[in-house]
Amino acid sequence: MPKPKVAFYWCASCGGCEETVVDLAEDILGVVEKVDIVLWPVAMDFKYKDIEAMPDKSITATLLNGAIRSTEQEEMARMLRRKSVYLIAYGSCAHMGGIPAMANQFSREHILKFNYEDCPTIVNEKKVRPQTSFTEDGRTVKLPSLHNVVRALDQVVDVDYYVPGCPPTPKITKAAVTALLEGKLPPKGTVIGPDHALCEECSRKATKPDRWDFTEFHRPHQKLMDEKCFLAQGIPCMGPATRAGCEAACTTGGMPCTGCFGPTSRVRDQGAKILSSISSNVLAKDDEGIEKTLSGIPDPVGTFYRYGLAKSILRRKINLPSNGK
Ligand code: SF4
Ligand code: SF4
Repeated sequence: MPKPKVAFYWCASCGGCEETVVDLAEDILGVVEKVDIVLWPVAMDFKYKDIEAMPDKSITATLLNGAIRSTEQEEMARMLRRKSVYLIAYGSCAHMGGIPAMANQFSREHILKFNYEDCPTIVNEKKVRPQTSFTEDGRTVKLPSLHNVVRALDQVVDVDYYVPGCPPTPKITKAAVTALLEGKLPPKGTVIGPDHALCEECSRKATKPDRWDFTEFHRPHQKLMDEKCFLAQGIPCMGPATRAGCEAACTTGGMPCTGCFGPTSRVRDQGAKILSSISSNVLAKDDEGIEKTLSGIPDPVGTFYRYGLAKSILRRKINLPSNGK
């Protein structure tokens, strides 16, 4: 019987998700034995034209990580969707836009202008910008262009399953790959992982107060932290609005959860949920007092929407002039 064909691909991401696949360590040998890897640019040499020549639906599953930021990424996502029976959004960026989607606070023009003209560490007197077409000696090279907005994978193509995390843990990756190989897949659209909040698996949960009266907030480097719940120490923690499954990796390691596993199925907007919970528990009721308390969270978008801005109700900031003000 032919082995199932599997593809891995990355779009707008940092490469950490691909590392997780390698981090399966000896488990990866078991996976490699059972499948034919037909595309994995980070580890092996495959050509675009080989994938293009494959019949539609001939790849059993593609695990695609990264958000969709450029025309090339969109083209690859659409092609891999056509070629695959199952398309799996692997990791926070494919699942929810991830950190690349923080760029949705700025227009494409603002990003290009800052990076190629205004950034203090750039020397670019002629203000040269990346070109999408370049001709020399009669040969023209075409390069991808940036979209004006960063999207999660399912905002571009139909997605069958989601593997959450930045990056997904080897355990959750193994669970997804095993379900695939054994044909024990959950209903389409499932996020592979537990469907309860991270607080339930956090070792600090016994010290999580039932009710808070926030008077000040701190960033982790501004305070000597103890073993208590981070929220009880005035440190924003996304645990109450975040799906479990990482075995509370960050809170066990001494840092608050920043929300990379995304929301549970009952939460429509992860950032809005924690934001409303925190702001409704601020002790002060007058404008000045509220402002003083919330000044301890100087980057609310980066704190509450670090991974989920593309999939949030807000999605992006619009109508920004090119200077971004
Ligand atoms: S530290 Fe964070 S994850 Fe742990 S119980 Fe408190 S709010 Fe929940
Ligand atoms: S604790 Fe939060 S940020 Fe850390 S790995 Fe888990 S879900 Fe991601």
